[in-house]
Amino acid sequence: ISNMRLDKFLAQSSIGRRKNVRIYIKEGMVNVNGKVITVPAKEIDENSDIVEYDGKIVDYTEKVYYMFNKPSGCITAKKDTVNKTIFDYLDNAQMRGVFHVGRLDKDTEGLLLLTNDGEFEHKLMHPQKHIEKTYCFWALGSLDDEDKKRLEHGISIGKDAVLTKPAKIEIHKYGIYKDFRHEISIENLNNINSYLNNQTVISGYLTITEGRKHQVKRMLKAVGCHVIYLKRISIGGLLLDKSLKEGHYRPLTDLEMKLLF
Ligand code: URA
Repeated sequence: ISNMRLDKFLAQSSIGRRKNVRIYIKEGMVNVNGKVITVPAKEIDENSDIVEYDGKIVDYTEKVYYMFNKPSGCITAKKDTVNKTIFDYLDNAQMRGVFHVGRLDKDTEGLLLLTNDGEFEHKLMHPQKHIEKTYCFWALGSLDDEDKKRLEHGISIGKDAVLTKPAKIEIHKYGIYKDFRHEISIENLNNINSYLNNQTVISGYLTITEGRKHQVKRMLKAVGCHVIYLKRISIGGLLLDKSLKEGHYRPLTDLEMKLLF
């Protein structure tokens, strides 16, 4: 006998994210051995019980895991009425049942993981796992040692009373925008470039273990810096492949899968 929670079974059978799967169960869309089950934690025997979702038997689907280099200007979502989404860059046939793990803002670039494995997402996004995510940033403003300490220890961002978890910050470059503009690929900013020219800019890496909305931008704003460019370069020990062009994706290797957790 191989017992498993019903929600876990469905998530790892590529039906969807854990949280969505729970909703499907509660809504009565899932049968076990011909009987509607509305309890996500219900234990089933994955080898002998027959599970149906939306009238179809759920069986094994091959799991896929991709790294995608998200370009700026597209939304991390399945559908959007106005903007391009990340799925406009992906092969529809390969992406059946595939969803994004976490989100990047429209103007944020870089490493985004895609999968059809709801359990993989559940593990990766679990707050207690504290998986590190590193972002390369360019911002207007400057940072002194006191600011760096506040970012490292935890800082209040906006209305949130809860401080951010400890973070790591590394500063790499500091100076006048016009000296660095060749290094910063900001889309659609040509018309305000002259306004930026004599501003002080700072660049570095911020590593966080949470995923609050606009977290990196809000953390830097809390120390007086305005982010003008943001790119995620790693998740756990997995680095964005430097040879993967913007808007392209490829499967993760076995080694890369191990580096994630
Ligand atoms: N932090 C942000 O501010 N934006 C992102 O897209 C990701 C992290």
